[in-house]
Amino acid sequence: MIESPLLTPCMGYVAGKWQAAKSGSTVPVHNPATGEHLADVPDMGKGETLEAIGAAASSLETPLPRADRRRALEAIAAQLIEHREPLARIITQEHGKPLAEARAEVEYSSAFYSHFAGQLDRLGRQELDGRIRGCRWTIHHRPAGVAGLITPWNFPLAMFSKKLSAAVAAGCGVVVRPASLTPLSAIAFWRLAERAGLPPGMLNLVLGRSGPIGEVLCEHPAVRVISFTGSTDTGQILLRQTSPHIKRVAMELGGNAPFIVFDDADLTAAADALVANKFRCGGQTCVCANRVYVHKDVGPRFNEILAERVAALKVGNGLDDGVHVGPLINRFAFDKVAEHVRDALARGADRVVGYDPPRPEHDWGCFYPPTLLGGARPDMLVFQQETFGPVVAVATFESEDEVLRLANDTRYGLAAYVFTRDPARGGRCAERLSFGHVGINTGTGPAPEAPFGGMKQSGFGREGGVEGLLEFCEPQTVVEA
Ligand code: NAP
Repeated sequence: MIESPLLTPCMGYVAGKWQAAKSGSTVPVHNPATGEHLADVPDMGKGETLEAIGAAASSLETPLPRADRRRALEAIAAQLIEHREPLARIITQEHGKPLAEARAEVEYSSAFYSHFAGQLDRLGRQELDGRIRGCRWTIHHRPAGVAGLITPWNFPLAMFSKKLSAAVAAGCGVVVRPASLTPLSAIAFWRLAERAGLPPGMLNLVLGRSGPIGEVLCEHPAVRVISFTGSTDTGQILLRQTSPHIKRVAMELGGNAPFIVFDDADLTAAADALVANKFRCGGQTCVCANRVYVHKDVGPRFNEILAERVAALKVGNGLDDGVHVGPLINRFAFDKVAEHVRDALARGADRVVGYDPPRPEHDWGCFYPPTLLGGARPDMLVFQQETFGPVVAVATFESEDEVLRLANDTRYGLAAYVFTRDPARGGRCAERLSFGHVGINTGTGPAPEAPFGGMKQSGFGREGGVEGLLEFCEPQTVVEA
């Protein structure tokens, strides 16, 4: 069991109180590296969700001044940094990622609270110039209402923090439902957020089965915003559930990122960026490269440089020193990765680095060896679907037009990367790539300061920037004669 004051009590947080499930039932949480039983968390359902929505709605009856929201956001940001180490250990134990990545996740999460604290002046009352139709016109940004936030397991703290920070800045009441595989980071966060001085009932944490909780959030009239991060399939379910109720929806869904290396690129820099981008979180990120296209003239050299780096990656328990890649989250994820590799090899790919690991017996200890596949083609599963694992598959191309057509030939549009020494070509590619985030000579992902989100079936709505804040605001125009 995890011993941490941040996980005492290990419960949900509803209406300003720590709460067990009304049924008394709990769900175990395990360390995916070792199978260690870390904790039992409440298995809540419809009743607790309704109570949480009621509390969040009541908290909105007295609007919280912007100065108080700013103070609370700054306090949360500071608390996260002060408790970086215990939070990082909780993230690594429930998720499996290396401790260095977990520390970076805490810092990244904290930066969202600071960022939105700094954006609050943007919500001030604006008066339009002159008198229009003989009247004075002012624009106000009102809190949209109660926000339901549903998030996945790959960044147990950051995924809800990106949304929660913006919702608090906007003045919304919130109900968060984190992933069932990684609820502990959220519980630890609430221990710290309790100290931020927000009104009781404003922030609620509901833990338990996703179906019933999601249904109540999508259907309840007081919930005015649903902000979801997860797979495109689940996003479609939530869109169907919310559509009769007409609410604001933000969907941060799956990706299938192209990573394009032109013949004039710095190949070493491109390979380093690819390894950092692809193997972070064991390849389980929505922005990680999934389809690598290298110009045919530099393909053999690039694969050589890449192979050296992939072969050097150390796999293991994220708590151990020197580990670069942790376990996959469970056996379902392991089976998907193994199937993608089998399919690629059967269709003619060659395995440059990696081997077939035995199928794990449990949902933990699902370590997959970092793998490099050459000779990838568009019909292979590794190029058609998110592999969500430590497998990098490389194809070659001949022309700019060809590679842009291939890169855009997907239902997804989240992140794309281009490596070239020609700035004009970089700009041209960015303009023609239908992806919400484009890296040119960098594999870096989103930052709090900039809007991030998808095109096409990677979703809609943005996190970060000022756009992420406006997702939770209702602009209101007041006209005074
Ligand atoms: P998922 O299966 O869609 O789950 C995401 C969240 O939705 C989890 O909390 C899950 O609960 C919950 N959920 C599942 N079915 C639900 C339902 N019927 N009603 C309400 N909630 C439901 O996705 P995942 O496998 O956890 O996460 C990986 C996916 O997320 C990938 O596709 C990845 O690309 C995407 N992602 C996107 C972004 C982005 O910013 N665009 C960022 C990170 C990840 P349980 O935990 O109980 O299953």
